[in-house]
Amino acid sequence: MKYQREQQNLRIPGPVPCPPEVIDAQTRPLIDHRSEEFAHMLKSIVRRLKRIFLTENDVFILTSSGTGALEASLVNTLSPGDKILAVVTGFFGQRYSDMAKALLIDVQELQFEWGRDVDIEILRKTLVAHPDIKAVLVTHNETSTGVTNDLESISRVVKKEFGKLLLVDAVSSLGSVELKTDEWECDVVVAGSQKGLLTPPGLAVISFSESAWCAYEKCCMPKYYNDLGLFRTFMALGQTAFTPAISLLYALDKALELILSEGLVSFIDMQREQAFMIRSKVRLLGMELLAEDRCASHSVTAVKVPKNVDADDLVDLLREEFGIVVGRGQGRLKGKLFRVGHIGKVPEQEIQDLVVGLSSALTRVISK
Ligand code: PLP
Repeated sequence: MKYQREQQNLRIPGPVPCPPEVIDAQTRPLIDHRSEEFAHMLKSIVRRLKRIFLTENDVFILTSSGTGALEASLVNTLSPGDKILAVVTGFFGQRYSDMAKALLIDVQELQFEWGRDVDIEILRKTLVAHPDIKAVLVTHNETSTGVTNDLESISRVVKKEFGKLLLVDAVSSLGSVELKTDEWECDVVVAGSQKGLLTPPGLAVISFSESAWCAYEKCCMPKYYNDLGLFRTFMALGQTAFTPAISLLYALDKALELILSEGLVSFIDMQREQAFMIRSKVRLLGMELLAEDRCASHSVTAVKVPKNVDADDLVDLLREEFGIVVGRGQGRLKGKLFRVGHIGKVPEQEIQDLVVGLSSALTRVISK
């Protein structure tokens, strides 16, 4: 799989640089979205998305970024006043929780220090203490801290021990980090096109289990554009309820072809090895990583900066002088760290450029 050599070395955790074939696919002429041709493409995309989710559950494509599908996960399963547990290990976990609060859901938060993963025993005790909890929200890969939570163990507790609905934010893990939707009994899993699916931003994908459909039948949250019942009705016809982002679907179609021709397992293995390499090269520069190796993400690495350095100065210098674009710290981590995204295949030259750029920029920022 070849990647476009960008003018900038785009090392944010998404949008990620897309293979040139994926970008080119968007220039195909538009077609009627109520035609046989479109139905064939949509069904084929969904069939292959299921192979990425590793699910037999329904999968739908939304015209939105990941956040739109996260909102869909809530409005299609819950009602105002329902009690849920939001497990928060960073900025995105907090946002998922805040979204539920905005929808008047009764949210019990379980907070962990940003940079740590979910402590399974504490999760278990919390569920014992709050038997009225209906659903649990979890961020699989916390992009703000570079931590991957152990979703398999979380699911064992949430599903097998307590039988709650499990809603998963997999925006920065699907396609990059192992995620077995059915084996791990995840009821709803959400991702965006602009990360592990190697597609430009603008589409979100969501898988929806039988238990999620049972919750859908009972819930009374107001919804219209994001009503998955409508999606299901139209999907049976090979259509979407509303006008789809056809050009982005062309891109997704091509990206899935590339990922699956490489094989999901080898694509994920490649990203794991690449992440190891990037982490060890960054450490060799004397920099500390936020996440422990045990739970370090294979899609994004959060790097701490020395106490006397403002991480944002380093980020600015990297961009302005070296053409390397990394992510800033978010929320309470702003200025304290920067984040290197490494979703998809990162050309060796770009890793090398990153290391050289980081080394020089760090020396300059420290001696300023
Ligand atoms: N959740 C996680 C874990 C993310 O990494 C992101 C974006 O980076 C989001 C949610 C929000 O997704 P979007 O910006 O596509 O709406």
